[in-house]
Amino acid sequence: MEVVHVGKAKTVYRTGNEDEFIIEFRDDVTAFDGRRKGRVPQKGFFNAQISARLFELLEEHGIQTHYKRMISDTEMLVTAVDIVPLEVIPRNIAAGSVVRKYPFTEGRTFNPPLLIIDYKSDEYGDPMLNDDLIMALNLASEEELRAIKDLSLRINAILIDYLDQRGLLLPDLKLEFGKAKGTLLVADEISCDTCRLWLKDSGQSLDKDIFRYEKGDLLTAYEEAAKRILS
Ligand code: 5GP
Repeated sequence: MEVVHVGKAKTVYRTGNEDEFIIEFRDDVTAFDGRRKGRVPQKGFFNAQISARLFELLEEHGIQTHYKRMISDTEMLVTAVDIVPLEVIPRNIAAGSVVRKYPFTEGRTFNPPLLIIDYKSDEYGDPMLNDDLIMALNLASEEELRAIKDLSLRINAILIDYLDQRGLLLPDLKLEFGKAKGTLLVADEISCDTCRLWLKDSGQSLDKDIFRYEKGDLLTAYEEAAKRILS
């Protein structure tokens, strides 16, 4: 299969149908703009399974995603999209960069959620955007931006509820959107690599912060997250 794009943890392949791509979830793990790298066997499997379930959940709620179906344990058939270069981050509990950059105490809640949008650009280091910058850089139309914000908050609410029932908190997550024939679809992945997930009773991380901050065994945590999310 012809490779369309090799990302830090996923590879995108062309298929015989120009409207579809295959995304392979690899076992590579990176943090801090690729400055820390590792490989964790089976990580790709757990992220693929979690993403598939959460995309199905969104579809059940009438939210359109690029997900079509799994074609193997680690390969997802998706609708081909043009990625909108925005990283949309709903935040429910302060953690990570928002604590480093602003005087928030880790663990404080944001109710309503805080919606942060970063520029998806390795070259510029994913800087935070605002509406004016998004318009000036021509990254999305006003109407698209409104739809992206609205969808992101709806997705956040759906996921909070689903995860809560499985003993998990969702401090934050990163969403990406793509366009296929003018329709906005949720794209990329929704997994332990792109969400903060904390055990409700202990506050323990079941996400990539384990790799970022060397907080324990990544695979054990991803497996626990998968067990709960797939149940
Ligand atoms: P933070 O801004 O605190 O680093 O990240 C906020 C949330 O968005 C976290 O759940 C984090 O995993 C996710 N996130 C933000 N940027 C990226 C990125 O470039 N790649 C990945 N995988 N996740 C990101």
